[in-house]
Amino acid sequence: MKEVIVIGAGPAGMLAAGTAAEKGANVVLLEKMEKPGRKLAITGKGRCNITNLKNWEDFSPHVHPVNRYFKPAFYNFTSEDTVTFFNNIGLPTVLERGTRVYPASQRAFDVIDALKSWLERLGVRMICGCQVLEFLTEAAPTSGDQETTSCANFPVSNATASSAAPTSGALEIKASASAPINTKKAGTPTRIKAVRVRNSRGEERLLTADHFILATGGKTYPGTGSTGDGYALASALGHTIEPLFPTLTALMPVDYDRRLEGVELRNVRLDLYIEEVLRRSEEGELLFSNLGIEGPIGFRVSRQAVVALNKGQRVSLHLNLKPALTREQLMARWKRERENSLVGSGSVSVPGSGMSARNSVGAGNGSPGKNSVGPGNGSEADLLKRLRAYMPETLITPFIKYQTVSGLHPVDAMTKWVFPIASYGDWARAVVTAGGISMKEVDIRTMRSKLVENLSFAGEVLDLDADSGGYNLQIAFATGRLAGGGTSCAKNQQ
Ligand SMILES: Cc1cc2nc3c(=O)[nH]c(=O)nc-3n(C[C@H](O)[C@H](O)[C@H](O)COP(=O)(O)OP(=O)(O)OC[C@H]3O[C@@H](n4cnc5c(N)ncnc54)[C@H](O)[C@@H]3O)c2cc1C
Repeated sequence: MKEVIVIGAGPAGMLAAGTAAEKGANVVLLEKMEKPGRKLAITGKGRCNITNLKNWEDFSPHVHPVNRYFKPAFYNFTSEDTVTFFNNIGLPTVLERGTRVYPASQRAFDVIDALKSWLERLGVRMICGCQVLEFLTEAAPTSGDQETTSCANFPVSNATASSAAPTSGALEIKASASAPINTKKAGTPTRIKAVRVRNSRGEERLLTADHFILATGGKTYPGTGSTGDGYALASALGHTIEPLFPTLTALMPVDYDRRLEGVELRNVRLDLYIEEVLRRSEEGELLFSNLGIEGPIGFRVSRQAVVALNKGQRVSLHLNLKPALTREQLMARWKRERENSLVGSGSVSVPGSGMSARNSVGAGNGSPGKNSVGPGNGSEADLLKRLRAYMPETLITPFIKYQTVSGLHPVDAMTKWVFPIASYGDWARAVVTAGGISMKEVDIRTMRSKLVENLSFAGEVLDLDADSGGYNLQIAFATGRLAGGGTSCAKNQQ
């Protein structure tokens, strides 16, 4: 029976392991954390947006950097297949906002439990607390005193041979852990012989198998175990790693007004400008966090913004608080309300401005300073009262500051609140890693390496990433499915 080692028990690794077992392989799934799916557990704020039911035409624009590299994996295991798969393994699902799929229980842990039970039924042996340190290739024979163990005979304590119940500290070291291992390669390695692993007690040993699947994820939220190990492992085998950068991450404005922290906005528009050119427009929900501008629409523009910032380009976000109305409609409403309030109050003068209110609001042509009469075409109290109809209370003070400093008419400030961007959220808080193992070196019909005969890849470790909305997990599941199904191919297809 073919022996397969899968490295990383995230969504991609679990799908790969189970699929290889379904094809008849003897599968060991190695996970360095004490439990599988640590990142999966925090997806969708603990609810797990499993997939997105869009068809390829609508799904593919959300995949980066080259979506056609994902196409065969998607068609082999579509979003609908993902839903059917989870329903069949005992996880009911629900649809939200048209195409987003969540577990009916709204619990990411139920997704993990369903996958664990599936693996257990298939006889996959999952070993947690077991980190893969390196690949040993045939071009790089192991030193004589380092014992190797076939993964089929790998001891798993407290578990039957067919159990996928996670175990930890299960390695029994029979050879010296400190024995030197020759990893120097003579030319490009073509075949992996073993992996060197270390358990949570620091003990090391070598494990052999016929085929290996690398599914170690990216390097965001490193506390979940995704610390980027796979890039070094693949690079040591000769694979190219496309430059890594965090995406789906917060964008930090220059001189960020900390009073904005915690403000959530719905139905707003965010325009991304790079070097003063409009590059992307997104409407929906936005969050001002301690890290800057994020939330669904913040995340959606973040990939292009990070790329531009890394190139040293000028990046700014323009926030429109009322995208459903044109500036003219908004101005007419503002004037109307102003007139009504003046009639109501019996007042027609703007305190301190020496101008009539009607004149002051009528001049709004958007040029800074020109139509400004101080913060509000009336008293500050009046402005405050009027702004409450347009934005949440928490936004008003920072808004007035911006409007005053920019010299814009309130309507113009509302439709174009400009945030020059200084930086972005790092690995600790970004959702996804962009970049990774070059897809040019992967056979996209099988997910097998084009450089190493008995190696496949799955999930975020690859140079594939996507927008938020269930797309990234679909990439993990579909590439895992394809990688697991391709382990029995005798020959690498170029
Ligand atoms: C906060 C947050 C929310 C998210 N929400 C969603 C969402 O709702 N929907 C969506 O589609 N996507 C979401 N994502 C993205 C999604 O979680 C990832 O794209 C997905 O988990 C990638 O799966 P993976 O299996 O490739 O990698 P991972 O999930 O990162 O799993 C890799 C596994 O490999 C293990 N590993 C690493 N190195 C080694 C080693 N050397 N030896 C052994 N094991 C190793 C790790 O411990 C880890 O368990 C979210 C991400 C975050 C951070």
